[in-house]
Formats: sequence, C-alpha cells, structure tokens
Amino acid sequence: MILIKDITNYMERLAPLSLQESYDNAGLIVGDPSEEVKGILCTLDCTEAVVEEAIQSGCNLIIAHHPIVFKGLKKLNGKNYVERVVIKAIKNDIAIYASHTNLDHVEGGVNFKIAEKLGLQNVRILQPKKNLLKKLVTFVPVEHGQKVLDALYEAGAGQIGDYKNCSFRVEGTGTFRPTGGANPFIGTVGQDEEVKEFRIEVILQAHQEYMILSALKKAHPYEEVAYYLSNLENDLAQVGAGAIGSLDEALDESSFLQYLKDAMALSTIRHTPLSGKKIQKVAVCGGAGGFLLNDAIRQGADVFVTADYKYHEFFDAENKIIICDIGHYESEVYTKELIISYLSEKFSNFAILKSQVNTNPVQYF
Ligand SMILES: [Zn+2]
Repeated sequence: MILIKDITNYMERLAPLSLQESYDNAGLIVGDPSEEVKGILCTLDCTEAVVEEAIQSGCNLIIAHHPIVFKGLKKLNGKNYVERVVIKAIKNDIAIYASHTNLDHVEGGVNFKIAEKLGLQNVRILQPKKNLLKKLVTFVPVEHGQKVLDALYEAGAGQIGDYKNCSFRVEGTGTFRPTGGANPFIGTVGQDEEVKEFRIEVILQAHQEYMILSALKKAHPYEEVAYYLSNLENDLAQVGAGAIGSLDEALDESSFLQYLKDAMALSTIRHTPLSGKKIQKVAVCGGAGGFLLNDAIRQGADVFVTADYKYHEFFDAENKIIICDIGHYESEVYTKELIISYLSEKFSNFAILKSQVNTNPVQYF
C-alpha cells in the first residue's frame, strides 16, 4: 500500500521543500499524508476543471507545479476559484501537492526539462545559490574512521560537483576525561585519556543536516560524539535559478526562433531585435525569469528564453542578448512530463496521469 506521504517524500528527494523561495507555498496543501494513493494526476495549475478531471479518472492525489494556495486563506466560502478548488478537493477526498520553486531550483527540474526540450548540451544552473552548504568536522578513533566516513557518504555527505566520497582527514591526538555518569567506549571514569583520532572534514547540503548527523551518531563508537558544523558561503552549483547550455550547432537567429517555436509548440514568441549573430549558447528560465538577465549576459548566452517580460524590461537586452518571451504556461507545461517520468521510475501500482486540461489563462487571437 502506497501512502500520500510516500509520494511526497519521494518528490522531495528530487526537490526538497527547503529549497523553495521564502514567498512560496510548496508542499502538501490539501489532504491527509497517511491516506492510500489510488491514482495521481499531474498538472501545471490546479484549477476546478483539474479537480473534476481527478474525480472522473479516479485519482485522489493531484501534483501541481503552481501552489493553488499562495497567500493565507482567512475564509473558506467559495467566493473565488482558489477557495472553490480547496472546497471541491476536500469534499471529494482529493489531496493537492505542489512542487514549485523547489522544483525550479534543482538539476533535473523545470529548467533542465526546458533545456532537454531544446536539445541543449552541458547544461548547468544559471544562478547557483549561496549559503546552502555546510562543513562537518568530526573526530573519530583511527580504526573507526572508514566506517564513520562510509556512513556519512551513504547519508549524502562529501559530494562536490561530479565527485562523490570527498573528504579530508588528518591524524592527531584526542584527549578527554570521562566523568560520573559516563559509560566510555575507551578509557575509565575519572582518568585522563589520549586516543589516536582522525579529524575528518566533509561538505554537505543544508537540507541533509538531520540525516547526516543521525548517520554520524549511529556509526560513531563514542557515546558523546564531538563535531562542529559550520555554514559555508560557497555557491552550490547544483541548486539555483535558471539553466544554461549549448546547442549542438550554432543556428542563425531566424532558424533558432523557428526551432524554439517547434520544440516548445509555441504559437508566438515575443523577442527583442535580432542582431545577425549566430545562436549557440542558450539560457532558459521557466516562468518569470527577468531577474536572471544579467547572469545570462555575463555567462555569454546568445539568447534568453523565459516568460512574463514587460515592455520596459525588453530594453534591457541592449543588443547584448536576444530575449525571447515564450509565455509562462508554454515555458512550464512540460513540467507535467517531468513529474510523471520521475514518479514512474519508482511507482507502478496505480495510474500516474497527465492532466488533459489546458489551464493557460492567457489566450491568443
Ligand atoms: Zn510558473
């Protein structure tokens, strides 16, 4: 029996909730985490029509990219579409889960899906986040060093870019005196002790802290484990906003625009003036990505594919880059496919469906 919390825990292995922006509301918005999952419906937006589709298709969990509840709800009487969606979901025992800016911020998330659609190579995060890395230092008797290190690696510590099992250690002498109440692994209560120990250092992501400290305490032989945990200011290259990569072959501008239109199934592209240069390096950001323009320029992107650009913001391209606004819905609609393929890798005992509702509130005439 698979429970809703099994699904949400699995989603959060890809996109931990702690990586969402402070203004966001990703997570389980409606529903009981201990209910059994009967079917999952994946959507970009959770509208009333999508809840109806879930009812009709026997799905009791909707996974959306955009959180239906974004601000506080003070009354629940159905006066707007947000309240009506929540009421309809609760009445019909349907849970709603959202994976939003946390899914934007990870490798393999929304922007990597856009990059995949565009066939980009060597894709990486455009604006890596800071203050998400920590350093753990611990002291372990030499003969237990490898066991403790293995446990730390297993819990996710020691990953730097494409390298696993990264650590540093030096050998030295640890000193301590067990006092009354202690039950020391080495030494005797009331006597000073000296032990050959490794000082082991590993790096970890902030959201892994609990898992890694638990693993440390479990694998370490001492009853009182000595460790320091400190925050690092390093960028975390694997987490952040937007993505950047390269086309296999440079295209002239109008060929690129046609390619973009076909790859993302667009009816229209709003873009800044063309300059006659070839397009090879492409920066992307699903939804409103204007805040990343300078990162895209600095990293040499020829074009920036995003959405939600306003008139005056287009001037910021300054002939250094071509801004392509492809529409918010159009830029993120393939997130449905991303979620379905991720869930399908692990779960096969119930239907995982793609919503057929076009939730785009913007229409073109
Ligand atoms: Zn969006």
